[in-house]
Amino acid sequence: MTLVDRFGREHTYLRISLTEQCNMRCVYCMPADRMQNCQNNRVMSANDVVGIASYFVSNGVNKIRLTGGEPLARKDIADIMGGLSALNVELTMTTNGMLVHRVLSHIVDAGIHSINISLDSLSRATFKTITARDVFHRVMSNIHMLLERGIRVKLNVVLLKGINDSEINAFVGLTEHLPVHVRFIEYMPFTGNGWDRSVVVTHDDVIRTVSERFAITKLADSPTDTSKKYCVEKSAGSFAVITTMSRPFCDGCNRLRLTADGYLKNCLFSNDEYDLLTAYLSGQGLDDVVQAALSGKHKVQGGQFSRVALDVDPTAIRNRSMISIGG
Ligand code: SAM
Ligand code: SF4
Repeated sequence: MTLVDRFGREHTYLRISLTEQCNMRCVYCMPADRMQNCQNNRVMSANDVVGIASYFVSNGVNKIRLTGGEPLARKDIADIMGGLSALNVELTMTTNGMLVHRVLSHIVDAGIHSINISLDSLSRATFKTITARDVFHRVMSNIHMLLERGIRVKLNVVLLKGINDSEINAFVGLTEHLPVHVRFIEYMPFTGNGWDRSVVVTHDDVIRTVSERFAITKLADSPTDTSKKYCVEKSAGSFAVITTMSRPFCDGCNRLRLTADGYLKNCLFSNDEYDLLTAYLSGQGLDDVVQAALSGKHKVQGGQFSRVALDVDPTAIRNRSMISIGG
């Protein structure tokens, strides 16, 4: 079965959330009431994850990203990475970086060549304000550890006006000497995360700020890219802006999401969920559930946002929180 939706979009990229639990408390991610548990407290086992992933790989998925919650907080993360490494797929991960030193050898053994690390500030104090954890130096040290092992590092920076937007040029300056790819992310609304348009720093804001200090070159973007890529001349790294709110990129969407409790989501912003784990455990085959998810996929942002995403009313959005969907 090819994973094509009503609009002709082929889905070759699966993002798997391994847990809703996290060892950080990022202000933009964690819902205000701190934590909603899995709907029925079920969580996919390592075998479920590998079995379901293997179905998607047989049906054209060529890239899998592990995420969460914090994926490295799973006790059986080594088993999961090991199982997935046997599949013919590019395996990657998004992590807050706090526990990388504990599992580095498993990351290398699983053939993971590129990792996204969330790092919202280059200041220990601001990092602690955003994440509620005083582990800035640990995360920085783990980033260097990954680079030393030849693993490509992308840094995810969620920009929040008045909190870390004064560091935009410091992050871009980092790319002059360090071979990292910095990805500034426009702050997105989810249930309970207190989103407010006035806090969003957009692509145009970033480019205006960076242009005041650096001569930048536009790099080529692919049709499935979520970001607009740039670099500073003669730099070791590069940077990009993920433009979900100011320039949605739904036309080229190739992504499906599997929540930690085993539901398939066809869009980050859709409230529709398809119970894949029950189908998997019953042995009835996954085609029907996956087909329903593809048929139900909306053209733009889960059918929930207005034409201008920045004008969305956050109280009208029906969805899980980001930590529960899997970013
Ligand atoms: N715990 C891991 C981490 O922080 O990298 C993986 C899960 S996290 C939900 C995945 C990504 O989503 C992170 O880069 C995080 O910064 C981003 N994220 C979370 N909430 C967001 C929001 N409201 N708007 C934009 N990005 C968000
Ligand atoms: Fe945890 Fe990642 Fe959410 Fe921060 S962004 S609270 S590290 S899941």
